[in-house]
Amino acid sequence: MRAVNIREISVKSAISRSSLPEYDYAVNPYSGCLHGCRYCFAIDFTMQNDARVDWGGTVYVKKNLPEILDHQTKSMRRGLVGISTVTDPYIYPEATYRLTRQSLIILLSRGFRVSLQTKSPLVLRDIDLISRYQEQIDVGFTITSMNREVTDVIEPYAPSPASRLHALERLSMAGIRTWIFIGPIIEGVNDSEPVISEIVEAASRYSSRIIFDFYNEYAGSSALLKGLIPERSVKMGKAGLSWKKGIMDMFRDLSARFGVEVNLQSEEWLRRPAMGKLF
Ligand code: SF4
Repeated sequence: MRAVNIREISVKSAISRSSLPEYDYAVNPYSGCLHGCRYCFAIDFTMQNDARVDWGGTVYVKKNLPEILDHQTKSMRRGLVGISTVTDPYIYPEATYRLTRQSLIILLSRGFRVSLQTKSPLVLRDIDLISRYQEQIDVGFTITSMNREVTDVIEPYAPSPASRLHALERLSMAGIRTWIFIGPIIEGVNDSEPVISEIVEAASRYSSRIIFDFYNEYAGSSALLKGLIPERSVKMGKAGLSWKKGIMDMFRDLSARFGVEVNLQSEEWLRRPAMGKLF
């Protein structure tokens, strides 16, 4: 097993207003992420310099987060909480620390709605809890490609795409609302019709839906992707507009062919109010 740095910290706040329009609040039990995805925008939003520099190798565990969350949410207006927005809530230390599980218990029992997003089948450990509160929760899995040779390069320490799909199947079979996030889509890396249609077809099999998004250039991820993928794929400016339109057309066709609901990430906020968002 590779060596990683796990550092415990105490926090003063456990929940914040989300900067993503589809959520009211965000909870992130960890800072940094051991999945080490090369395209991750969260590198630029991670407070601790060593976690940023050693992306995928250093993570901060917010050990007192459940206690603070319990206190903060007692009188907070109920709304939709994104778990997690700048880390993965089921990186492997979660098996020991159980911060995500404790956060779910607090939020769901108090009537908050929760949207979980992960790349890890460890989420299945909490299937009892998720099933009990299934009217209040949905679970998304990020799948950029089913091809392990691709994912080993761009998300080197994340669980295999096949294991994520298996976890999604288990949750869907249990009647839980699931979705697949295909993103980021990177030109020349995971943008071909066979790659994307394989995932959309899987979503159709498990009565799931699709959210997708394009790669956006950030300083941290650009540095990590350099040399791994073509330089022009990292720099998505105006030149990418016709490429993006082509991808959106492809999704429209695949949505019709497989009978799967597909939404661009930036349009999620239009859909979320119907699912319980506050504003
Ligand atoms: S799992 Fe998500 S938060 Fe973690 S490195 Fe990958 S993209 Fe970033």
